Amino acid sequence: MSERFAVPVDRLAAMSQEERERYLNKKLAQLVVYACERAPSIRERFEKAGIDPHKVEGIGDLQALPVLRKDELIDLFKSKPPLGGLVTVPVTELDRVYVSPGPIYDPHHKSEAFWERHRHLVESVGFGRGDVVINAWSYHLVPAGLMVDEALRRAGATVVPMGVGNTELHVEVMRQLQVTGFFGSTGFFMNIINKAEEMGYDVVKDFNLRLACIGGEMGGGPIRRLVEEKYGITTRDVYGTADVGLFAYECSGKEGMHIAEGVIVEVLSPETGQPVPPGEVGEVVVTPIDETYPLIRFGTGDLAALIVEPCPCGRTSLRITRILGRTGEAVRVRGMFIHPRQLEPAMARFSQVAGFQAVVTRTGHRDELTLKVELKGGVVPGEGLAEEIRETVSGAIRVRVDRVEFVPQGVIPQGGKLILDERTY
Ligand SMILES: [Zn+2]
Repeated sequence: MSERFAVPVDRLAAMSQEERERYLNKKLAQLVVYACERAPSIRERFEKAGIDPHKVEGIGDLQALPVLRKDELIDLFKSKPPLGGLVTVPVTELDRVYVSPGPIYDPHHKSEAFWERHRHLVESVGFGRGDVVINAWSYHLVPAGLMVDEALRRAGATVVPMGVGNTELHVEVMRQLQVTGFFGSTGFFMNIINKAEEMGYDVVKDFNLRLACIGGEMGGGPIRRLVEEKYGITTRDVYGTADVGLFAYECSGKEGMHIAEGVIVEVLSPETGQPVPPGEVGEVVVTPIDETYPLIRFGTGDLAALIVEPCPCGRTSLRITRILGRTGEAVRVRGMFIHPRQLEPAMARFSQVAGFQAVVTRTGHRDELTLKVELKGGVVPGEGLAEEIRETVSGAIRVRVDRVEFVPQGVIPQGGKLILDERTY
């Protein structure tokens, strides 16, 4: 296949933010024209939005193009076989077609640009020549397994394609091959580690593990800390979707995830669809420079915030925060979206706290945010604790908490919502 949209990822990685943005916008302008010529459903979306593909000069010109949703993909795949008019080549030109739940078809191709992005991402995470890596993502139906496999091989690592399951076998392979790296889910990695200890192994002495890329789950923070502190294994996270592949990764700085080279990410207000300022939470919308499957403005449904400050690691690419939840779970307070996962780490700093719940009410035209807090048995709130909690949480969610109320134990329902919206309109 011709490589019309080859993206020189290593060159891009050396660019400043402004240079990279200019470069990607130019590529995007070409991609839009190309996609509209060859993929009828993409062309229809542009026509409906009243956008002339030839007049697009960058992502800013696509604000009128509705975000492409998974539901729409499912409908298109169903109504316009094969592949919903979304792909720029005949199905027979593809290397593979994966099947994700929906069903959603994920077309894969020989595109160097796609694989170069993945190679660079996996190298940036820290894998390379000299590594023997167990890949515990599924090789069946969905793209994760084969995608990570190919990326690792291109980065120079030796791959052991294990997939999911067979925990005991994983343990033996890990020890006997002196595996250095692991790629898979956090939960499954912990199953392997626990099984190894059950089998009488010392994970530090008997194994050679140094790096585990264990993304894919929310709330994995405490487990990752355990893995790092107890076993001395570095952990990293990566982010992507079956549809577009991997497109963000953690560096050694571990403050959010860098956006992969060759991908445009927007963070949009779930309510207005407009970009939110850096630091504010919104939906991650992604546009990969991908000539075969040009998902222009694809909505992930995941919430995160954009980080524009330079990263201590020296990379110039923008970052997003870790994923803070799904669009449906966010609650809007005074124009800002807040999410349970922003509250949790802020409250975790207070060891005196047994439980909490944020309650949103409305007085007149103003949203009021009250934080109800249950303290652990025997704890008497000292002078200033309420104020300290208020400051910490307000900073973390970027919305001023109006008051912190200490309530007796049992008042906050167990397993209830962390953010309760009591507003009526
Ligand atoms: Zn970094």
